[in-house]
Amino acid sequence: MDIEAFRKAGYQAIDRICDYYATMQDRPVVSQVQPGYLLETLPESAPEHGEKFEEIADDFQKLILPGITHWQHPNFYAYFPTANSFEGLLGDLYSSSVANPTFSWLASPACTELEQVVMDWSAKLFGLGDRFLCKSKVGGGVIQTTASEGAVVVCVAARARYMKMNPSAKLEDLVIYTTTQTHSLGTKAGLILGLDVRALEVKAEDEYALRGSTLKEVLEADLARGKRPFVVLATVGTTSSGAIDELEEIGEVLRDHPSIWYHVDSAWAGVAFACPEFRSVGKLDAINKYADSFCTNFHKWGLVNFDASALWVTDRTYLTDALDVTPEFLRTKQHDAGLVVDYRNWHLGLGRRFRSLKVWFVLRSYGVEGFQKHIRKGIEANKHFVALVKKSPEFELVTTPILALTVFRLALPTSAADGGLPAVNDLNRKLYARLMEHSDKLYLTQTMLNDVFCLRFAIGAQRTEVAHIDQAWKLVKANGQAVLQELER
Ligand code: PLP
Repeated sequence: MDIEAFRKAGYQAIDRICDYYATMQDRPVVSQVQPGYLLETLPESAPEHGEKFEEIADDFQKLILPGITHWQHPNFYAYFPTANSFEGLLGDLYSSSVANPTFSWLASPACTELEQVVMDWSAKLFGLGDRFLCKSKVGGGVIQTTASEGAVVVCVAARARYMKMNPSAKLEDLVIYTTTQTHSLGTKAGLILGLDVRALEVKAEDEYALRGSTLKEVLEADLARGKRPFVVLATVGTTSSGAIDELEEIGEVLRDHPSIWYHVDSAWAGVAFACPEFRSVGKLDAINKYADSFCTNFHKWGLVNFDASALWVTDRTYLTDALDVTPEFLRTKQHDAGLVVDYRNWHLGLGRRFRSLKVWFVLRSYGVEGFQKHIRKGIEANKHFVALVKKSPEFELVTTPILALTVFRLALPTSAADGGLPAVNDLNRKLYARLMEHSDKLYLTQTMLNDVFCLRFAIGAQRTEVAHIDQAWKLVKANGQAVLQELER
């Protein structure tokens, strides 16, 4: 493809992307294809001779789009949102145009310095303290691919720091602390690093948040039997229910254990710190006071298309001490002189995408005000959803709704024989199965909170309006009523 052909194909691509967004609402939210649909359609080997780009582009429309679940659909309420924006999308396009692995400052100075700038902008946007700023020259922020990779990086740094402070410790005694509600990133970090993971219990009466007293008890018992907990992965906004661990209590416990790293994963909820009124909800003060690291994903609720996971540490040397591998060919005069950051030492890979560009595009286009407006819109919409649930006697909230997430279920009618938890779980599994039959109209996901089966409704797609929520609720309610009628029969 030459430049003129690229220009033509590029215009067409933008046109088609615009049409895609303009018709999003009429598309099925969840892809309706069957397993193997593409595997059985596409040839088993790459073509011997190059094909015409127009045909390839047409095949994207014809073959690929039907197999896409539309995360940007206004009736997408599953998992957590990936709130996209055109500005972010264009940022990614420009970033691809310079096709740059951006691993060291010299590899492209703009990529490194822009990342430092946007990470400081974002730290300020979210109210993080000065010790997290790149400008402090001690702490700093880095964009990781995912929060899961960020957690692995944190565990590697935490392990190195722990071993430095406790040189007699044996690696096999090290333990990562999570809770039963921590995202799989904790378990995965343990698998990758070959370390034990201990999921601390949380209680329904504490809204599934980790308490300091639980941590203290387990920690003391583990230390007494020779175990070496070296990192606590706490969460603000758990995946199942949006639970917020008791960060102040945890911080106080860890004050007596300075070699244990304190990480706060707020992959979904953290961007809400952009609004000052939600900072106390997410216990930002405790993060600023105690945490060694903090993570939030721009690529969830933060208007930047996947991938852009923001990770801040209060001391960058723990990352670089643990991850710096510098063969001769990677040495540069500027890095040797200590004048620049080489982000290759802050993450798992060597090469890295130029992700700061899309974050810059989004933050400049929206401004603090526009970003806050987006977050507040999702939270207001969730209040509307909560009111609908509360108004419907067939349903109940399972936990206190947090930010833009509601966890709810069908309640067992008083007239029904009391089958306890299994019966109400069964009822809700039936409801969920019915809703999945309407997955062209809406998509929400289920979860288990301890032994309770519930439905999650997560708002945040950029195009979700109150009218969409009303439409979705109508469907949930009608199906809930149908399940209850079946029960009576
Ligand atoms: N942490 C929490 C609380 C999450 O809800 C999720 C995903 O939903 C993650 C981490 C994982 O994020 P990522 O896909 O960036 O690894």
